[in-house]
Amino acid sequence: MLFLLFLGFLYFLPSIIGRDKSDAGLIFVVNLFLGWTVVGWFIALIWACAADTRPTPVRLVPVVSAGRFCGQCGTLSVSGAHFCSSCGRAV
Ligand SMILES: [Zn+2]
Repeated sequence: MLFLLFLGFLYFLPSIIGRDKSDAGLIFVVNLFLGWTVVGWFIALIWACAADTRPTPVRLVPVVSAGRFCGQCGTLSVSGAHFCSSCGRAV
């Protein structure tokens, strides 16, 4: 019985390794349906061990330099403006 559990664990080892990957679902499908052919099992294992090709999330940095904040009223004026659009003070 313990041996069967060990075999099951070994069979789904690629899915367990690749569970955090972006193609975890596909790895599991290949593992489940092609794992019994030893070649399919190795493909799933290599896939699970391969580097995740998911691009790193790009952080959006707000561009504050596009305009200037008015020292009088705090309104953000458009870039290149010399006077505040709200109160008329020079920025
Ligand atoms: Zn202003």
